[in-house]
Amino acid sequence: MVKQGSSEKFAENISVRYIKGVGQKRAVALQKAGIETLVDLLYYFPRRYLDRSNLVKVAQLPIGEEATFVGRIISIDVVRGRREYLQVLVGDDSGFIYCIWFNGIQYMKKVFKQGELVAFSGKVDYFKRPVMVHPDYDKLEKSEWDTLHTSRIIPVYPSTSELKKVGLDSRGFRKLMKPIVGSLDKTVKEVLPPSILERQKLPGINRAFSQIHFPDSKEELESATRRFKFQELFFLQLLLGVKRLGIKQTPKLHKYNGIGPFFKAIYDSLPFELTSAQKRVIKEIWKDMKSDKVMNRLLQGDVGSGKTIVALFAASIAIGNGYQVAFMAPTEILAEQHFRNLRQYCNNVGISVGLLIGGQAKKERKETLEKMKNGDINLVVGTHALIQEGVEFKNLSLVIIDEQHRFGVGQRSQLIGKGFNPDVLVMTATPIPRTLSMVVHGDMDVSVINEMPKHKAKIITRLVTRQKLPVVYQFIRERVKKQKEQAYVVYPLIEESERVDLRAAVREYEHLKEEVFPDINLGLLHGRMSSMEKDEVMRKFLEGTIDVLVCTTVIEVGIDNPNATIMVIENAERFGLTQIHQLRGRVGRGSRKGICVLVEGKRTENSRKRLRVLLSTDNGFEISEEDLKLRGPGEFFGTRQHGFPRMKIADILRDREILYEARGEAFSLLKEDPHLRRQENINTREHLLDYYSEYLEYVDVL
Ligand code: ADP
Ligand code: MG
Repeated sequence: MVKQGSSEKFAENISVRYIKGVGQKRAVALQKAGIETLVDLLYYFPRRYLDRSNLVKVAQLPIGEEATFVGRIISIDVVRGRREYLQVLVGDDSGFIYCIWFNGIQYMKKVFKQGELVAFSGKVDYFKRPVMVHPDYDKLEKSEWDTLHTSRIIPVYPSTSELKKVGLDSRGFRKLMKPIVGSLDKTVKEVLPPSILERQKLPGINRAFSQIHFPDSKEELESATRRFKFQELFFLQLLLGVKRLGIKQTPKLHKYNGIGPFFKAIYDSLPFELTSAQKRVIKEIWKDMKSDKVMNRLLQGDVGSGKTIVALFAASIAIGNGYQVAFMAPTEILAEQHFRNLRQYCNNVGISVGLLIGGQAKKERKETLEKMKNGDINLVVGTHALIQEGVEFKNLSLVIIDEQHRFGVGQRSQLIGKGFNPDVLVMTATPIPRTLSMVVHGDMDVSVINEMPKHKAKIITRLVTRQKLPVVYQFIRERVKKQKEQAYVVYPLIEESERVDLRAAVREYEHLKEEVFPDINLGLLHGRMSSMEKDEVMRKFLEGTIDVLVCTTVIEVGIDNPNATIMVIENAERFGLTQIHQLRGRVGRGSRKGICVLVEGKRTENSRKRLRVLLSTDNGFEISEEDLKLRGPGEFFGTRQHGFPRMKIADILRDREILYEARGEAFSLLKEDPHLRRQENINTREHLLDYYSEYLEYVDVL
């Protein structure tokens, strides 16, 4: 079926252009969808399946539930009235139902033709009679319909409007795939080692491809699906394992002869006693630093657990041995705060600290760059500005990255690349649940600060509805007026609806300022302001000239104002639990009790349930575990999560069992054959290099 033109051993890499049924136009559309070769096409998995066991007769469609049925199109009408809609009457031998579209009427009315056989999926609603509103649809050929009756399973493919334009809707994909899959024999090379296939009882890759596209039975489909899930998770773990090995083997060119003079000097100048958790992780870090392998450690600890000071001790060791340290933070506000904070300790003991951020004056910047290059600055704190071209160090031996999940792998690597195999310490306040931690941080050693400084007052959290806002505002007014305390009012801002959210936040600010708190100083802070404006507001808030700071989530990353004791979070249901937990860590940093009021904008049962978790515990790990359960890993990481290969078929949470298996296999494989050089592992190695090379930067094992 494939017009083979090359002399390659496997036909899998031929361009889709040579596949029967793919012309110029389709080739272009496929390419745009990331499908360039035969094997790419094979990895384009169905998103669901139709089979007799999940089809329902029209007369039996269950009201209020999701269902799938197949029927013939009887009529297509645009109904005009108060609100225009498209109604498509569909019937089978048991009865009729209307499928309704309110949106995209012009497009949708051209989609169906009378007499066509279509599978519809969706929730069955009841408006005077059963209807399906905006159902999923999938056109079927008569012959496909017939095969359904002989208990075949029909794949339903995802598609895009671009692909549909060239006839590649689900049905189009089936037509294209069928002959390819029918002729798969040894077309695709196996990428899993034979011993693993056998142990895990997984089908070979060609068989699995043919069964995942056109399953002979439910069992075959399940087994093929399991194979590809396993494969995906296996390579993910292999990737982490290889990275870990690569880092472990990275030769260290710098050497620390001892903790140096600054460590003790800083220790003696501390206005507080370190917690025992802090002492423990400092020891863990020092052990890494003095080993002849490069350090690659993640420091995890709740907001306020005191990570910065731990990082400073690590820095003091490097600097005490004559090296330089870079400390990178995700925002200018945070970088400056770290700078000010660290400078206090450093100035005392004779460490010179510099700041490098985007919004600096040219002259200042030039001077700092000069001093970094000639070694006059020992510790430089900064933002992404640190990884720009032209930034050079004399002898960088330690890289510290705060809130590491805000940076992509590329950015991390770029900073690391400013030195010669420097030690790396990354910090995060996002307590990642164990399941995910091993997936995301499998390449790092992890230290956890699981104890809060003693002085830290507890935070009281309350959950209220919007009707209670006047009471909340009154409370703020009293505390601000009588006790000179400060407050945050936080509005949600999410990427997808950034503009709308921002407008809402600004509007609320105006409202609060003019109508609610005309007698109190308010400030506004959001991510779209210039860094100079942000600075100004932050400074005023820290000084106390602003009493109530209205903001979007920019404060999430680490602002430290010990006098701020109240936080009101509006539309709390729109935040992730972990996010709120981090936010509330901002209040009660001083000796006074912090109060966090969660205001529910829209209450649903689920949002109630979620937010209540925050009332019942202040353990960050428990909260994140809960978050993960309720929102799934995709949302947990947020859309900005970089550096993590996208899972096509596996779900880290739901497929935990497979994940554990895959991890075990991947790690024992690397133990036996760390460079994947053995004959039976060659294909595995090639697949890793082909598909995951972008995640293997700066790793030199294979
Ligand atoms: P985070 O882990 O959120 O980055 P920070 O490092 O910003 O926390 O520390 C929060 C505050 O607690 C800072 O003001 C810091 O000086 C203070 N702090 C850190 N360690 C201790 C300790 N052991 N005892 C008392 N206060 C501490
Ligand atoms: Mg911090």
